[in-house]
Amino acid sequence: MRRFSAEYIYTGNEVLKRGIVETDDFGKIIKVIDTGGKFKEQQSLEFFNGVIVPGFINAHCHLELSHMKGMIDNKSGRGLPGFIDEIISKRNFPENLQEQIAKADKEMRLKGIVAVGDISNTDDSFSVKKRSDIFYQTFIESFTISDKKVDETFNLAKAIFYKLKDLKLPGTIVPHAAYSVPDRLYKMISFFEDEKTKIVSVHNQETPGEDELMKNKTGALADVLSEKGFLLNEFSYPGNSALEVNLHYLNKKDTILLIHNTFSKEKDVNFAEKFSENIYWVFCPLSNLYIENTLPDVPMFFKKGVDTCIGTDSYASNTELSVLSELKIIVENFPEIPFEKLIESATINGAKALKIDDKYGSIEEGKTPGINLITSFDFKKMNLKSVSKVKVLI
Ligand SMILES: [Zn+2]
Repeated sequence: MRRFSAEYIYTGNEVLKRGIVETDDFGKIIKVIDTGGKFKEQQSLEFFNGVIVPGFINAHCHLELSHMKGMIDNKSGRGLPGFIDEIISKRNFPENLQEQIAKADKEMRLKGIVAVGDISNTDDSFSVKKRSDIFYQTFIESFTISDKKVDETFNLAKAIFYKLKDLKLPGTIVPHAAYSVPDRLYKMISFFEDEKTKIVSVHNQETPGEDELMKNKTGALADVLSEKGFLLNEFSYPGNSALEVNLHYLNKKDTILLIHNTFSKEKDVNFAEKFSENIYWVFCPLSNLYIENTLPDVPMFFKKGVDTCIGTDSYASNTELSVLSELKIIVENFPEIPFEKLIESATINGAKALKIDDKYGSIEEGKTPGINLITSFDFKKMNLKSVSKVKVLI
């Protein structure tokens, strides 16, 4: 048995001053004790000068792009259209890909991440996922340039899906984004295994040109997609925004992770929340800064009290895979958001989105959530500092 305490414990549901957490040798929480701030030194108690939080949930990553660090030029000022242009021409499959994927998986665990919602276009990451200490929910992502390629594309996604199932790893087939999935393919994805309640993820409103493309098939995104061979006249885009198009096709009963939301406005949030109660808004701030040099209106989402999560995105658009670093950039830009709320986004909300909150996301009896210590914490402001660090306790 181990017993931990720190200046504060953020359990994911509440904040305990100098509380105590007892775990068994495998990290399962046996007891959480509220000492009311007063406790005496006790035998076998490990006390830390910092704050204890549950293991982090990374709600959006592309593990299979782990070899692409620094490969995409983010100084072009072309935003997502430039990124798409580069990633299509630069994505390769080097000999040491498995090594790079395994390294990224280890890095995430060292940075306190215990579960990941991970996008896969191939089966490249599956053997690492099978061996990993991290829980992975895999989103097999599908998209294509033309209606004529829909059957071939969906068959490929299914083949990858069955490989995942053979390995007994959890996952679903998901659309890439409103702009890259023709009508027939989006329907095939939505109807696939729709007798089940699924978890789906889709990139949403990451660049300003997305909504313009939906409305008029014009703009910077339309231009680069046409250049890359997308036959946009074959896409029907039934909606006035990427969000409307996505929700046109997605099932209300499913859990829906909307990724990025960099250009989502309050009316979009209202629209989606009216559509379903199972919407999770995932922010990947460092990736947004890398690609679009801008951030979503994060305070607006917190003010509305909707469910928000944190993702690192991939090494194609980030220099590290750390939930803490994503939180720090939010604190730097929006210091008015309380740390307690940020921790909910980074832990319990992500666990609910991936439907693993029976085990992960909060420090509660019976769960095995992983336990992180955050050091160099700003106890005056009760928030992160730029120098705050995470250490895995369990
Ligand atoms: Zn992504």
